[in-house]
Amino acid sequence: MRQVTIVGAGLSGLTAAVILAREGYDVLVVERKKSIGGASLHASAVNQDEICFADLTPLDIDAMSRYLGFPLSAPAGSHAVPFYNPLPCLRFRVFGKLIELRLPADVHMKMVERGPRPSSIDMYLYRLAVEHGVRFSFGTRVATRREFADLPPDSIVATGMFREAFDALDIPCTRAYGLFAGGPAPDGRSPFCTAYYHDQTQDYAYYATANGVGAAVLFQRGKPLSDAAVEWFPRQLLEDEGLAFAHWHLVEDLASTPTGALSNPRLSCGRLILAGTLAGMQDPSMVLGVHGALVSGRIAALAVRNREKAAEEFRRMNRWWKLAYLTRRLLWATHPWGPRRIIPAVLGILPRVDQRLLWLLNPAVPGWMRLPESEAGRGR
Ligand SMILES: Cc1cc2nc3c(=O)[nH]c(=O)nc-3n(C[C@H](O)[C@H](O)[C@H](O)COP(=O)(O)OP(=O)(O)OC[C@H]3O[C@@H](n4cnc5c(N)ncnc54)[C@H](O)[C@@H]3O)c2cc1C
Repeated sequence: MRQVTIVGAGLSGLTAAVILAREGYDVLVVERKKSIGGASLHASAVNQDEICFADLTPLDIDAMSRYLGFPLSAPAGSHAVPFYNPLPCLRFRVFGKLIELRLPADVHMKMVERGPRPSSIDMYLYRLAVEHGVRFSFGTRVATRREFADLPPDSIVATGMFREAFDALDIPCTRAYGLFAGGPAPDGRSPFCTAYYHDQTQDYAYYATANGVGAAVLFQRGKPLSDAAVEWFPRQLLEDEGLAFAHWHLVEDLASTPTGALSNPRLSCGRLILAGTLAGMQDPSMVLGVHGALVSGRIAALAVRNREKAAEEFRRMNRWWKLAYLTRRLLWATHPWGPRRIIPAVLGILPRVDQRLLWLLNPAVPGWMRLPESEAGRGR
């Protein structure tokens, strides 16, 4: 039986593991943390409650299940809590102006639980992987150039937004600085998502929940948050939403994103196959990476058998990446006056016309617009 090693037990690594195990490979997943659900957070000071959080993502569960070749939800009638909550409304606070978007079901916008609870997507994929005989080595880190060079050929590296692999494999990235707080969601606030565009960050801030847990995050790529920003967000969230947290964590190295170079998305690095955020399969503008990680897991699994075919699929799924990257660079370069004009204009039009146009904001999410057309998507 052919063996495959996968580094990183996050979304893309676990997806690839399930697919390869179903195809008959002997799969070993190596994970730096002692358990599943560490996701992309570098912060070491956080407690267990706080690493349960919610990601917003466009996700059509049926189309994605067909693409991956395994069900991305527990069978109907099972008592498992689904890891995803359809989101009925998305709230933006854009430079002080409130814009609310209703989200019809066919827009497929979801809040997805992340983290170590049994109801998270990470744990759902882990259970599937174990059922299919995947082996795990927890508490094992692959971090240095030497350690990566020693991996067997065709190993998959799926280490998410952690900086070490970017550095060891010479993949340009941008460091994100962040302030965050997490914990149980107040009653009636799940699922929920409110996002802030503001002078205080050239990226954005948000509070999001799913399955009764959530987190508030203010982040900025490329430069540290100012003292004024760190003071602003907790105060604003309390004022606007009545939300207060006992502990806020200021993190120097919250995460790294693949926005270091226009040419970044890449399926391989020498003999190694890349997956998820490390491969660049994350929307460079909004940092939406859940959809791309799932798609990328399948492509990485395909690459083990057929690198050329996988490379073609990888290009197809990242078709909009460069445009989204250049748009983000423009917003960074012109912040705050550019975003002050562009973001309210774009978001302000949507409530007045068909909100299904939210689709138009999604091409940057790797694979989202291409999924229904895919070969596997058509069930061929
Ligand atoms: C604060 C924050 C908010 C986000 N919000 C959203 C959102 O709302 N919507 C959305 O779609 N995306 C969001 N993302 C992005 C999303 O979380 C990632 O893009 C997604 O998790 C990527 O999946 P992955 O498989 O690449 O990595 P992950 O799911 O992060 O998994 C990587 C795994 O690799 C392990 N690992 C890392 N380094 C090593 C090593 N050296 N050796 C062994 N194991 C290692 C990690 O412990 C982890 O388990 C957010 C990210 C952050 C940081």
